[in-house]
Amino acid sequence: MRSLPPRAALPQATRNKLEKESRAIADAEDPKDEAERRYGNARKAKWFKPVVESLGAMSGVGQRCMYCSGSEASQVEHFRPKAVFPLEAMKWENFLWTCGICNLNKSDRFPPETEPGEPIINPLEEDVWSFFFIDEFGNLTARWRADLNEVDPRAAKTIEILTLDRDTLQETRQNRLDDLKARVQDSLELCRHGNLKQKDLRGRYDEWRTQPFQPDVASYFLDGPGRLESPFAEFCAEAKC
Ligand SMILES: [Zn+2]
Repeated sequence: MRSLPPRAALPQATRNKLEKESRAIADAEDPKDEAERRYGNARKAKWFKPVVESLGAMSGVGQRCMYCSGSEASQVEHFRPKAVFPLEAMKWENFLWTCGICNLNKSDRFPPETEPGEPIINPLEEDVWSFFFIDEFGNLTARWRADLNEVDPRAAKTIEILTLDRDTLQETRQNRLDDLKARVQDSLELCRHGNLKQKDLRGRYDEWRTQPFQPDVASYFLDGPGRLESPFAEFCAEAKC
């Protein structure tokens, strides 16, 4: 997961169409069936395109999955599963843009409505870094809650359901952090020897923030709480960013 921009506004015509579809689902005899059918049709329809384009734009460069940041996203994910909440199957506020693995892992799971446990975290609506951190090795980890004397239960449940700690992802995060640290240290070294100016540091910073490779690592260490850790703190002070 990573910090994402606020949800974008949809064109009015698309909003109207989604509302019309939602009303038809609410009026149907079997809203669950109707939601499946209407969503299936919408996904293939031209009018639904702005939904997909807006979700893609909110995901940033490379359109990485809003849950795992690892794979390229290709699926509209219903945060509240449409099989459990058919009336929300066509709600813009319920859509995320995710990869097939995360979408399949989550499926119809949505605690506490579908199983015991705490609600999972919505990366478009919540402050992701108050639930997770990326450790010095590059692993996404649930934060410790001193008040509960356990790891944050919502963060733990989110990791469990989406398998955000799957080996391939953690390994990619580790590689991204190693790479980012090496670039930061190299830039600081060049700056100390007068071979790089402050504006060049700033340019590099902006470039790293938009690289699509496992962007949760950059989100944490360049824009999030990880900025306070070495060598990112020294870099940000030098680059004035
Ligand atoms: Zn994913």
